[in-house]
Amino acid sequence: MDIIVRPATKNPCYQAGRRIIPKGIMLHSIGVPQPDPKVIVNNFNQPGADSCVHAVIGLGEEVYQLLPWDYRAWHCGSGPNGSGNNTYISFEMTEPSTIKYTSAANWVDLDPAATRSFIQQIYKVAVRFAAYLCRLYGFDPEGKDVIISHVEGYRMGIASNHADVEHIWDREGLSMAQFRRDVAAELKNPGGDDGEEEKLPYIVQAGAFQDEENARRLVEQLEVAGFSAYVRKI
Ligand SMILES: [Zn+2]
Repeated sequence: MDIIVRPATKNPCYQAGRRIIPKGIMLHSIGVPQPDPKVIVNNFNQPGADSCVHAVIGLGEEVYQLLPWDYRAWHCGSGPNGSGNNTYISFEMTEPSTIKYTSAANWVDLDPAATRSFIQQIYKVAVRFAAYLCRLYGFDPEGKDVIISHVEGYRMGIASNHADVEHIWDREGLSMAQFRRDVAAELKNPGGDDGEEEKLPYIVQAGAFQDEENARRLVEQLEVAGFSAYVRKI
């Protein structure tokens, strides 16, 4: 898995540049039958866009990162208890071209075998990516409200009334409960028992400082240059 940095610099959310302290991960499914993550990335990188997630994944090994992980994304709206935008890192999964939306979150399946294959595969990419973020931030994937879907955020009162990701997963027998268990298993045993190695063993260090402010300043310079950066206290 590689993180491809594609800053959505034209998106007003990117330009707002507000920071958050990430507390967890919110999963989204894009809601259109578009399997190509690059198309979704381009759609987000527009001056008129009114939403932006941190990342988009497809079936490939690439994760497209649109915002630094600690930027405040516009991914879930809000509810009576506030907004998940203030605490969650977000990503969109693409959807197969073999489904057709009829109304809202209802869809018909034009090719059940292909649809099933796509959804099972992207689920696995999502598990690996979520495990990566958990490792980066020290999240406990099975902790309370640490990894949630958009619809779970809605039920918590911190997101708009959308049905993703369950509107896709339910019909394939997948669930967020299973997802959280699978992310925990991935963290303990990267790649699973088939022996696939963890694909992100390298971290590049760009500086070391006594003063936190100087560290933050370097992070800002790196982000302006299009890199994903973070500060870790040792
Ligand atoms: Zn959503």
